[in-house]
Amino acid sequence: MNKVTTDILVIGGGPAGMSAAIAAAKSGGVAVTVVDDNPRLGGQIWRAELGNTKSPEALELIALLDEERITIVNNASVFAHDANSLLAESPRGKIQIEYKKLILATGARERFLPFPGWALPNVFGAAGLQALVKGGLHVADKRIVVAGTGPLLLVVAEYLISKGAKVVAICEQTSNKKLDRFALGLWRTPSKIVQGISLRGKLRGIPYYRNSWVSAALGDSEVRGVTIQHFGTSADIECDMLACGFHLVPNIELAQLLGCEIVGGYVAVDDHQQTSVTDVYCAGEPAGIGGADAAIVEGKIAGFAATGQSKQADSLLPTRIKTTAFAKALDQAFELRDELKSLASSSTVVCRCEDVQYGKLISYDNFRMAKLQTRCGMGACQGRICGSALEFLFDWKDRSVRPPIFPVRMENL
Ligand SMILES: Cc1cc2nc3c(=O)[nH]c(=O)nc-3n(C[C@H](O)[C@H](O)[C@H](O)COP(=O)(O)OP(=O)(O)OC[C@H]3O[C@@H](n4cnc5c(N)ncnc54)[C@H](O)[C@@H]3O)c2cc1C
Repeated sequence: MNKVTTDILVIGGGPAGMSAAIAAAKSGGVAVTVVDDNPRLGGQIWRAELGNTKSPEALELIALLDEERITIVNNASVFAHDANSLLAESPRGKIQIEYKKLILATGARERFLPFPGWALPNVFGAAGLQALVKGGLHVADKRIVVAGTGPLLLVVAEYLISKGAKVVAICEQTSNKKLDRFALGLWRTPSKIVQGISLRGKLRGIPYYRNSWVSAALGDSEVRGVTIQHFGTSADIECDMLACGFHLVPNIELAQLLGCEIVGGYVAVDDHQQTSVTDVYCAGEPAGIGGADAAIVEGKIAGFAATGQSKQADSLLPTRIKTTAFAKALDQAFELRDELKSLASSSTVVCRCEDVQYGKLISYDNFRMAKLQTRCGMGACQGRICGSALEFLFDWKDRSVRPPIFPVRMENL
């Protein structure tokens, strides 16, 4: 087993983790280590494109990471903890990382909801498809429906078009009223207005249906079209691919494992991003889904606070108040509508790892019993996909977290 010892350990190399590491290193004389499970830093937003990104924030962060001589451990998934150390699995074997202070910046993943046909080939998560294209998948000339909820749908649609795809429709489940209220509230964050206008400009001419969702993916061996619901009517749209995601779910499993308090589905933090556990901080999406700007400011605050640079942390609080308000507005605007709870039919598979159908789950009233009787949530993804769907479908909130939080090789257990 490899051993790493550090003063400040940051888990997650996205915007929050990179910013936290740089802020911590500025205190001077502390060893800072970032551990991330991807081959490169950048998190979800920059990932494979980090080397060619034009984003000024990304470029600045990369330069500073080099300058501050921060230790980077890539390709390592933290799966368990042991007193003041964490255990990670990497292609080089198991790594034990001892730390004095810990900053969790583990990001978020997409939420999927089951509907008939959602397991057909060429049905992807919206951000999932974008990630695959960033990794080299070709979508040129493919007819794609982008559906689900959240501002990421527009980002994904624009990205797919830039790679030559034909986006034939964008279906946003939220209502006109909620979207209008969200748009009106953007005056507090002018940069988001500019971003929104620019995106809508690039998507001009593409049908954008509000109050609309996919109720079925059609096809036998792969998706050939979708049925969408729109203001009480249904219509079929032909397509080669469906990119469907319902906003994001925070990756809070590691925080839960460490005993951090969770409130409203997020890791509870104070003004300095300190969790309820001493010396454990949390920044970015696990503490609230607010996008890269929020992740960067929270990361900086956590890095400064963890190394005693309180004045620098305090100076960022006014910005954080704005980004937190934006995160709350996102949650309200893109709250899932009740109609989405009844899309799955009795034979729709909900847990894809263990092949558990919706009809097998309806007689249970909590996650634990459903898990014990059906093995739902016990497969390779450890409930990361079906868990958040079941929380929404049945209002089950009792999903327990145990190590390992990721599947690991037997020899590493
Ligand atoms: C799939 C996806 C695609 C997205 N694409 C965009 C986009 O194109 N544009 C945009 O504006 N926003 C996008 N977002 C939203 C984006 O996540 C946020 O805007 C921002 O990147 C959040 O930064 P973060 O640092 O909090 O988290 P992230 O960027 O998610 O970084 C967290 C990092 O921690 C790693 N990690 C998590 N757990 C562990 C562990 N146990 N061990 C080791 N490493 C771990 C993750 O793999 C990830 O690299 C996307 C979100 C998702 C889920």
